[in-house]
Amino acid sequence: MKQSLKTQLLDRYRITAGKGFRLKDHDPDDIAESIIDKQESQALLAAGVARLSELQELLYPHASWSVLCIFQAMDAAGKDGTIKHVMSGVNPQGVQVTSFKAPGPEELAHDFLWRVARRLPERGFIGIFNRSHYEEVLVVRVHEDMLRTQRLPPELVSKKIWEHRLEDIAAFERYLARQGTVVLKFFLNISPDEQKRRFTERLDDPNKNWKFSASDIAERAHWDAYMEAYEAAIAATATPHAPWFVVPANSKWHARLVVVEAMIEAIEALNLQPMGMQAPDRIRLEEARQKLAEEGA
Ligand code: ATP
Ligand code: MG
Repeated sequence: MKQSLKTQLLDRYRITAGKGFRLKDHDPDDIAESIIDKQESQALLAAGVARLSELQELLYPHASWSVLCIFQAMDAAGKDGTIKHVMSGVNPQGVQVTSFKAPGPEELAHDFLWRVARRLPERGFIGIFNRSHYEEVLVVRVHEDMLRTQRLPPELVSKKIWEHRLEDIAAFERYLARQGTVVLKFFLNISPDEQKRRFTERLDDPNKNWKFSASDIAERAHWDAYMEAYEAAIAATATPHAPWFVVPANSKWHARLVVVEAMIEAIEALNLQPMGMQAPDRIRLEEARQKLAEEGA
């Protein structure tokens, strides 16, 4: 994709500062028609998937930078499909994917970042978080009674707990950035109507029934509370070193294109050069070549 178009596309959705951020300014139906020709978007996506694969092959041997992509969304917004599609060309050996579910007893016995820290990508790897530490300021904020299962000392649970958690998340991500982890955060933004349509499809199509869970309907009833929590979370944690992308997700193709282009842009910005070989290694390479030749036929 042409550089100038890519920048325009990503700038449209990229949030790097919280000031004035409003979710209602972001249309889940947007497909950036003034920038992207609808006919071309599938070809662009295919090219993006291929490019990402090349970039991962550069990232890996350097074993220095890592990339962490965090996916957050309401149910049926397409997290799984996006991850599957965007990463489909990438060597699985260079990728670490983690899906975070409701925490179990061992996880609840620790601070909330503990399980996240254990799953951070190694240097050279791309890490994908399907849900993340943000659940702690989303689902837990919407269902405050979940806090009780976390066994925090009562005197530490104040009205400021969400503000404090957001501060801690922002500090954690700054630390990661300073350690050489490129942090990208994607909120796949669907509308309640589109969610309803997708839920109905899951109910109607036996092949999709497995994707449906009864609790999804219950969560839907808290839509506005979730949106408030998302807005607060994005506003408090959007920075240039750990930007949010509010990705319109009513169109699956468009969402995938935005995600893949954001990953490409971030890795290209690292300006990694092919590793090549240092001089002493080159000599060894020649020696190896000779030994193989000496083995004869
Ligand atoms: P899908 O439904 O597409 O398979 P999913 O990510 O929704 O994927 P589920 O197993 O349905 O997977 O849901 C995981 C659940 O775990 C979500 O309801 C999420 O809110 C919850 N969860 C994740 N992290 C936490 C957390 N820290 N505290 C409480 N609940 C959490
Ligand atoms: Mg689910």
